[in-house]
Amino acid sequence: MITGDGAYIKQINRGLILRKIIEEKLISRADLSKITGLNKATVSVQVADLLQDHLIYETQQEHNVVGRRPIMLSINRPAGFVLGIDLDYKQVQFIVSDLGGQPVQQKTIKLDSENYHEFVTLLIHEISAYEQQYKTSEYGLISTVIGIHGTVTKDEKIHFVPSFQWKNKNLKEDLQKELAIDISIHNNANLSAYAERVYEYHKSDNLLCVMLASGIGVGLMIDGQLQTGFHGFAGEMGHMIIQQDGDLCNCGNRGCWELYSSEKSLFTNIVKRLQLESLTYEELKYLIDSNNPDVIELIEQYMLDLSTGLNNIINLYNPETLVLTNDVLKMYPNAVEKIKANFQSTISHYGVIALSNLGNKSCAMGACALAIQRFLEVPEIKLSLEENFSSKKSQDNNNVHSSCLA
Ligand SMILES: [Zn+2]
Repeated sequence: MITGDGAYIKQINRGLILRKIIEEKLISRADLSKITGLNKATVSVQVADLLQDHLIYETQQEHNVVGRRPIMLSINRPAGFVLGIDLDYKQVQFIVSDLGGQPVQQKTIKLDSENYHEFVTLLIHEISAYEQQYKTSEYGLISTVIGIHGTVTKDEKIHFVPSFQWKNKNLKEDLQKELAIDISIHNNANLSAYAERVYEYHKSDNLLCVMLASGIGVGLMIDGQLQTGFHGFAGEMGHMIIQQDGDLCNCGNRGCWELYSSEKSLFTNIVKRLQLESLTYEELKYLIDSNNPDVIELIEQYMLDLSTGLNNIINLYNPETLVLTNDVLKMYPNAVEKIKANFQSTISHYGVIALSNLGNKSCAMGACALAIQRFLEVPEIKLSLEENFSSKKSQDNNNVHSSCLA
C-alpha cells in the first residue's frame, strides 16, 4: 500500500531500477545510476533493499580488462516462478517461467471435452501440482495468468468462448475456491500481443498481433499500451464479416473472417479435400514440399481470404508492426511476400508484417511476462529468450492437431 509521496517515489525508483537490471541482465550500480538518472545514494539504498528481498544478486563480470572487476547486479531468476496458461480449444498449454522471463518447464494437455467443469478440475489439479513443485524456492509459484480464446470482461470474467459456447463463467472465482495462488484471466490475443512486445519487438509502440489458430483474435498494442475497449472485448476481428450470407459462425453471424482464415479452417478444408481422417503439421509440411496441387490451391485461397481481413485491420490501425501467429505460413514459401502482394490499395499503410517467432507459445509466454511485471511492480518489461525456444514447437504442434481433428 502506498501511503505518501515519499513511499510512492521510492516505489517508482525501485521499479525503474529493477526494470533496468532485468533489461541489462548484468549491470553495475554506477551504470544503473547513469541509465536511470537517479543519484548513486538512491541506487545504493534501493539495491540494498532488493538484495535483502533476494530479488537480485551480486556477481562479478568476466572480462579481460586489467584492474578490479566491478560488482555487477543481476535478477535472481530462481527466486520465484510464474505460471502462464493458454486455455485453447480442447487443450491447455502450461509454461512455467523464472523471474527473468525464461521458460523452465512447458507441457500441453489435451482434453477431449467441451465441459467447463472438466477444465476447471484439470486446472486445479495442474496448478496445485506446480505450486507443490516450486514451493521450496524463495517466493514459490507466485501467480498464474490464464489466456482465454474468447471475450473477457474488464473484471476478468469469461463473457463468451465461441468454440466451447461457454457464457458468463467466473473461472477466476471457481479456481480461487480451491487454490490460494493469485490468479488473473485475460484474452489470449492480448497476452500474445503483449508477449511480442515484451520478447521480440521492444521498440514497437504500435503493434498488432493476429492469432490465427482455432479462431482468429487480434491483440492491440497502441502507443505501448494494450487496448481492450469499453467492455474489454476489443480485437474480436475473427468475427468481422468478410462474406455476406457466408457460412454460419458459432457467434451467431454468417461469413465471419475466422471461418475462412483461422488455421483450424485451413486444416479442416485440407482434411475434407484429401479425404483424410486427421492431419499433423509434419504431414502438411510434406504435402506442401511435394507441391500437392489441392493443398497449394487451398493455401493460396486461404492467403487471399487472410489478406482481405488484414487489409481491413491495416486501414483501421495503420500499424507499425503486424505479427501473424500461424505455423502453416511458416512452412509455406514466401508466404508473407504473397500476402503483401494482395494489398493493392493505395490507402493501406503499415511498417512491418512478420511471422511470429514465439508461435503457439506466445499466449502462455505473454501470461508469464505479465505475471512477472505485476509481481515486480515494474512499469514496463523487456525480456529476451536465451535459447531457441521454438525448437520444441513441432512436437507440440503435432499434439495439437492430432487432437483437434481426430
Ligand atoms: Zn463469428
